[in-house]
Amino acid sequence: MQYYSTRDRRNGVSAAAAIAQGLARDGGLFVPQSIPQLSLDEIRQLRGRDYREKAVAVIGRYLDEFTEAELTAFVGETYSANYDSAEIAPTRFLDADTGILELWHGPTCAFKDMALQMLPRLLTASLKKLGETRRVCILVATSGDTGKAALEGFADVEGASIVVFYPYNGVSEVQKRQMTTQRGENVLVSAVKGNFDDVQAGVKQVFGDRDFMQTLDKKGVFLSSANSINWGRLLPQIVYYFSSYCDFVSSGRIKLGDGLDFCVPTGNFGDILAGWYAKKMGLPIRRLICASNANNVLTDFINTGVYDRNRAFHTTVSPSMDILVSSNLERLLFMLSGDTAVKGWMEALKATGRYDVGAEVLAAIRADFDCGCATDGTAKAFIAELFAKTGYLMDTHTADAYAVLAEMRETGARFPAVIVSTASPYKFCDSVLDALGQNSAVPGAELIEKLAAATSTRPPKPLTGLFGKTQRFTGCVPKEKMQALVLDFLS
Ligand SMILES: *Cc1c(COP(=O)(O)O)cnc(C)c1O
Repeated sequence: MQYYSTRDRRNGVSAAAAIAQGLARDGGLFVPQSIPQLSLDEIRQLRGRDYREKAVAVIGRYLDEFTEAELTAFVGETYSANYDSAEIAPTRFLDADTGILELWHGPTCAFKDMALQMLPRLLTASLKKLGETRRVCILVATSGDTGKAALEGFADVEGASIVVFYPYNGVSEVQKRQMTTQRGENVLVSAVKGNFDDVQAGVKQVFGDRDFMQTLDKKGVFLSSANSINWGRLLPQIVYYFSSYCDFVSSGRIKLGDGLDFCVPTGNFGDILAGWYAKKMGLPIRRLICASNANNVLTDFINTGVYDRNRAFHTTVSPSMDILVSSNLERLLFMLSGDTAVKGWMEALKATGRYDVGAEVLAAIRADFDCGCATDGTAKAFIAELFAKTGYLMDTHTADAYAVLAEMRETGARFPAVIVSTASPYKFCDSVLDALGQNSAVPGAELIEKLAAATSTRPPKPLTGLFGKTQRFTGCVPKEKMQALVLDFLS
C-alpha cells in the first residue's frame, strides 16, 4: 500500500518510508491511499482472538511490506509482560450501556504506550528495509506523557538512542520522577529552564540546524521524532476500537452489527482519528464524540466548521489535552476534501491562525463526529460522583470524556457508549485527590500512598516505589545548551 502526503497526493511512498520520514517533506502528514475493509464476518472471527492477534489482523492490512511473522514478533514484544493486564486494553462496564476502555495498563500508565511501545519496532524495521545504516536518535520535547512513553519504548532498542527534554516546572511530580529514573543505556533526559514552548522551540531549532545535522551524519547518526504525526503512532491505536467493540458484544450488551458510540478525550486528535479509521474500515461505530477541556477549539470547530486558534490558552487539570493546534485533524480533512483544499487551510492556519472548511465538509464531519467540552470543575465533580456511586476511580482526562457523555445523555437520546480512558488516576494524583475533597498539598513522594489510602485502590506497579528509585538524570540546562548536550551524548 502507498502513502500520500495530505498536501500533495502526487508522490506516493511505501509504508516503511512514511514511518521512517514521519512528516512528509512538504510539511504534510502521511495517509494511506485507501482504507482496508473488514466485513462483519471478519469482525466476528476477531472476537475469539486475543489482543495481539487482533493487532496483527488490523495493522497488517495497512503494512503489506511487513510479513505476518514480522508483525507477530513486534506485537508479541509490544503487548506482553510489560502490561499489567493480560487483556492489554480491557473494557470495564459501569452499567447496562456504558463501558470504559482502559488504555493505561502499559509501562508508563498512560495511553501513549499503546503506540509508543510499537513505534520503535516499526521504525527500526522500516529503516532496515530502506537500507539505512546510520543510528537513529529520537529527539523529544515533552509536556509529560509522551516523553516517558517514548523513553520506555526506545530504551535499549538496538540502532537507536533517545533524548528527552521537559520543562523544569511544567510536569507533575510523578511525571518528573518517571523520567529522571528512566533505565536504559541509550537514553538521556534533561530538564530545560522555561515552559513547554521554550523546550519545543529549542528542539525545533536543533532539527532545523543543517550544520548540526552534518556533524551528526559524520558520526553515523541522524535525528528523528516520535510525536503523534507519525503514521506508525496512529496505526496501533486503531486496534483497540475493534477490541473494545468485541468486548461490548461479548458482554451481551449489544449484538454484532449494532452501533456503538465512543467518547474520546482529545488533544492532538490522534486517538479519536484512529477511531474514525476503525469506523471507515467497517466497525459499526455510530458516533465518535470528541471531548475537550477548556481548550475547546475542536468543540467550536465541529460545531461551526471554523478552526480558530486565536484564543486564550488555559492550563487545566487535564494537561495532556491543553492544545490549541490539533495536528492530526489534517488527516481527516484530507480524507474528506483533498490535498489542494488542505494545503490552503494549513497555510491560512499558519498565517492567520484560522480557517473555515465550509458547509459541505462540516456536514461530512458531523456525520461521524459529535463534540463537547468540560470545565475543570465539572470533570472533578464527576470523578467524585462516579467514585461515590460505583467505586470506580478515573483520572482527569477520562473525566472530561465522562462529563461530555453524561451531559449529552441528559439532553438527548441514550445510546450504548464506550468512554475511552487515557490515563491511570495515579498519574494525576494531586488533581484526583482535590476532586475527592482531600488535601493534595503533601510532598510528591506521599501523593501516591495518600490516594491509595483515600480510595482503597491499588496504584499501578510501575508507579509504586517510584520515589525510592535512584534519579539518574537531575540536570537542567538553558535552552541554548540543548544542542551541545545532544552532541555530547552522541559522541
Ligand atoms: C495524549 C493524551 C490525550 C490526548 O490524545 P490525542 O491523541 O493527542 O488526542 C488524552 N489523555 C492523555 C492522558 C494523554 O496522554
